[in-house]
Amino acid sequence: MTELICDVAIIGAGTAGLAAERSARAAGAATLLIDDRFAGTTCATVGCMPSKLLIAAGKAAHHVAQAPIFGIMAPPPVVDGPAVLARVRAERDRFIAATLKAVDALPEGVALLARARFTGPTTLALDDGRTVTAKAIVIATGARPVVPKPYAALGDPVLTNETIFDLPDLPRSIAVIGAGPLGLELAQALARLGVVTTVFDEGTTLAGLKDREVETALRAILERDLTFRLGVEIVPRREGEGDRAVLRWRGASEGEQGFDRVLVATGRAPQLGDLGLEASGLTLDDHGTPRFDRATMQCGDAPVFLAGDADADRPVLHEASAEGAIAGYNAAVFPDVARSQRMLPFAISFTDPPVAEVGAPADDESVIGIAPYDDQGRAKVEARADGLVRIYAARPDGRLTGAAMVGPGMDHIAHLLAWAIARGETATALLAQPFYHPTLEEGLQAGLRAICDTVHAPIPPDQDQGALPGA
Ligand SMILES: Cc1cc2nc3c(=O)[nH]c(=O)nc-3n(C[C@H](O)[C@H](O)[C@H](O)COP(=O)(O)OP(=O)(O)OC[C@H]3O[C@@H](n4cnc5c(N)ncnc54)[C@H](O)[C@@H]3O)c2cc1C
Repeated sequence: MTELICDVAIIGAGTAGLAAERSARAAGAATLLIDDRFAGTTCATVGCMPSKLLIAAGKAAHHVAQAPIFGIMAPPPVVDGPAVLARVRAERDRFIAATLKAVDALPEGVALLARARFTGPTTLALDDGRTVTAKAIVIATGARPVVPKPYAALGDPVLTNETIFDLPDLPRSIAVIGAGPLGLELAQALARLGVVTTVFDEGTTLAGLKDREVETALRAILERDLTFRLGVEIVPRREGEGDRAVLRWRGASEGEQGFDRVLVATGRAPQLGDLGLEASGLTLDDHGTPRFDRATMQCGDAPVFLAGDADADRPVLHEASAEGAIAGYNAAVFPDVARSQRMLPFAISFTDPPVAEVGAPADDESVIGIAPYDDQGRAKVEARADGLVRIYAARPDGRLTGAAMVGPGMDHIAHLLAWAIARGETATALLAQPFYHPTLEEGLQAGLRAICDTVHAPIPPDQDQGALPGA
């Protein structure tokens, strides 16, 4: 039996694990990075990148369909499903190859292809019989889709984010179960590619949004592409001997419909189940996730750290990467762990138009400035006038605290607001910055001025308050 010894062992070579390994090694630790596949990160293989590739294809079809608005006469787009999916896979494979380069670049002997489980607080057993003893361990095992039993029983028609991108062709119809960011992004892309798409959810919240007004606007926009069955109980069954699934639903609406495929997007759970956490001595919460400190990523006072989707905290890529860096560094310097100032909450769903929430949600004390985008100049130029931004601020000075938005370019606008909020800026300070004309950014001025009016904060006196044509 081979016994391997290191300073920091990292379980999982996804975005968080790779970041943790880099950070621990940079801090002088001898590292081991253990992964059961080394097949590429979730982001590259079945997550961010293939989903955005499918969305890009859906947008291309949409733009062709929209061309007559501009006087460009084009026949309705013909979608070649196998070609769409072939491009998704070809580009995805390039992203995977890039992530695998990071593994190839590791110093000799650092990467261990094996499945790991705890046998003690700082010891691991690998499924190839080797053991690892480390001074500290980082758990970065990611998350996997949850397929509730009634859907798992459907067999072939069921898809998740782990299988949909490998379809040889687009289905004729699909039921998407789950109206979260992942479900909505894929549902809209598929609908624009000609797949008859219905989104089902037991609840009524879209994209996990907290801001009801933005959610209402998002729903009205998405209903142009999608049918929604929200607030319903769903009973799925397989149709006869065929490959189709039939869903019966009741609640806010009632009905029964057959679908070629069912995409289950009901959430992704941390992959902690077979890690043998009982041997780690860590305190677990009700869901079996180790309790940890977000500022250090440390689990209690143990030499064990969590990072990425495995902690079920903020399952998005930039947080997985940041958590990996924090966890890796602290594992290397344990017990002298350092506390990090975490980034503000920031979530984007890449629907078209995109929807985003940044910073703190609004509360009863918040001052809210609204910037409508259904009549905004640049958005109208491009026939994309839709949605709104709701900017939240605090009294007495109109300091920005958060925002929710849906509309054209909101994946970019959300960054501007996130950076301003993080810097502690006020509406006045942001209004003092240049706003080029005609841009989508200009649209924000209405919301910022409304905040200044409400809190009686100054609007920069050297700026004209008149409305520019199409601003
Ligand atoms: C469809 C989809 C779209 C998304 N889109 C976006 C987006 O647009 N923007 C965004 O910011 N985020 C997006 N995300 C989320 C983002 O992809 C994740 O937050 C991120 O990839 C998580 O990285 P990770 O390192 O925690 O996990 P992973 O990349 O999953 O890495 C975990 C690794 O651990 C390995 N492992 C697990 N258990 C063991 C074990 N016992 N022993 C050894 N190895 C083990 C796994 O095989 C895997 O390689 C999306 C996710 C999905 C599913």
